[in-house]
Amino acid sequence: MALIVQKYGGSSVADANGVKRVAKRIAESKRAGNDVVVVVSAMGDTTDELIDLANAITPLPPSREMDILLTAGERISMSLLAMAIANLGVEARSFTGQQAGVITDDVHGKARIIDVTPSRIQAAIDDGAVAIVAGFQGVTQHTNDVTTLGRGGSDTTAVALAAALKADVCEIYSDVDGVFTADPRIVPSARKIDRINYDEMLEMAASGAKVLVLRCVEYARRYNVPIHVRSSFSAHPGTMVMNYEPAEGADEGADVEQPIIAGVAHDSSEAKITVVGVPDVPGTAAHIFEVVAGSGANIDMIVQNVSAAATGLTDISFTLPASDGTLAMAALSESQDEIGFASLQYDDTIGKLSLIGAGMKSHPGVSARLFAALSAAGINIEMISTSEIRISVVTRSDQLADAVRAVHTAFDLDSTEDEAVVYGGTGR
Ligand code: ADP
Ligand code: ASP
Ligand code: MG
Repeated sequence: MALIVQKYGGSSVADANGVKRVAKRIAESKRAGNDVVVVVSAMGDTTDELIDLANAITPLPPSREMDILLTAGERISMSLLAMAIANLGVEARSFTGQQAGVITDDVHGKARIIDVTPSRIQAAIDDGAVAIVAGFQGVTQHTNDVTTLGRGGSDTTAVALAAALKADVCEIYSDVDGVFTADPRIVPSARKIDRINYDEMLEMAASGAKVLVLRCVEYARRYNVPIHVRSSFSAHPGTMVMNYEPAEGADEGADVEQPIIAGVAHDSSEAKITVVGVPDVPGTAAHIFEVVAGSGANIDMIVQNVSAAATGLTDISFTLPASDGTLAMAALSESQDEIGFASLQYDDTIGKLSLIGAGMKSHPGVSARLFAALSAAGINIEMISTSEIRISVVTRSDQLADAVRAVHTAFDLDSTEDEAVVYGGTGR
C-alpha cells in the first residue's frame, strides 16, 4: 500500500464532467488499496476570471483582499470534488489550505510555504478517507491571514504536502502526457521525456515551461520528492522528475546515451527596460538595481553596452516579469536625477527562448548550433545569457514560436511518432 499525493490542475476540473471524471480516477486509486491525498486547482480559468473581476473594480486591488478573493476558486473545486467522490461511495473530506496546515510567510500574492503541519490530513487518511486539499493557498504564521502562493502554486502545495506526509510519490495531473522537449501547444512534434532530473527541470520551469511551477521543483529537489507528471485525460505513463544516476555498472561511455539537450522552453511574459545615457562610473549599476529591487521586481537578464568614448555614457538593458514592469519603471523615474540617466525605454514585445541540457557542460558547439539555427530562420537575437546547463536568448515576441520550432528541429528533438496531444485547457 502506497501513500500517493495527486494534484489535478484547472484544465482537469474545468467543468462538472471534468470533476466527475477526476473523481472516478481518485476512487480507483483508493480502491486499488492506496492512501490518497488530492490537491486541486480552481476550475478552468476561474483564477483569471477572478483577477479580471477585481481589475474591473479597481486598478490596484489591495493584496490582502486579492488573496481572499483568489482562494475562493480552489474552495469551489475542492468541495465539488469531495461531493463527486462521495457519490462513488468513497469517503472524502475537503480542507482549505489553512485547515491542511499550510503555513506561509506574509508576502501576499507570492507567499512562500515555511511549514506544513498536516495533522487533519493525516487523521483523514487514518480514518480511511480521501483528503482533498485546496491548492495555491495557505495562512500566515503570525496574523492568520489567508495567502496565495503565486500563479501555478497548486503544484507547490502538492509537493509540500507529499514531503510533509512522506508520500511515496507526488503525481501532477495536467492536460498533456508529461514534460515534453518543448511546449506541445507550439511544437506538435515535441517528444515526451520519460525521465528528467531536478536540475534540468528547474531550468525548464524557470525558463517558462509552466507544466510545473518553479517553486514546486525547488521544493521537490530539496526534500527529494519524486514527481510523476501525467495527463488526467489518458492512462499513459508520464514523466518522472527525480534524481537519477547513470545505470548501475555503466562505464563512462554510457553517458553518451544521455541526450545533450533536454528541451527548449519559451517565455513571453517578460519585458525589457533600457536605461539610456547612464554615467559609466563605479556604483551606477548598483544604484539602478537597488532601486529596481526596492520596487519588488525580480531581474532576469542584464546587458550593458560599451560606453561611448566621447560622452562616457552607456546604456543598460534588463529583463523582468512584465507584471513587475509598471512599478519598476515608476521607481526608476523617481530616481532619475539621483542616478543621472537620460531616459527610460519600456518594451514588452520581447520573447525569451531557452535551450536546456546538462550535457551542454561537456559538449562544445551548442551555442554555435543554436545561433546558426536562429540565423537560418531569420531571427535576430537581442540579448543572451547562460548558466552551466542553459542558454537563453531574447527575440521579438512575434518570432518566438518560429524560433522555438527552428531550434527544436536543429537539435534533433522532433519526434518521429504521433503528434503530442493537448487534451484540454485554453493555454491562458
Ligand atoms: P494545469 O492547469 O494542469 O496546472 P498548466 O496550464 O499550468 O496546467 O500546465 C500545462 C501546460 O504547460 C500545457 O498545456 C502546455 O501548454 C504547457 N507547457 C509548457 N511547456 C511544456 C513542456 N515542456 N512540456 C509540457 N507542457 C508544457
Ligand atoms: N488556480 C491557481 C492559478 O490559476 C493555482 C494553480 O492553478 O495552480 O494559478
Ligand atoms: Mg499549472
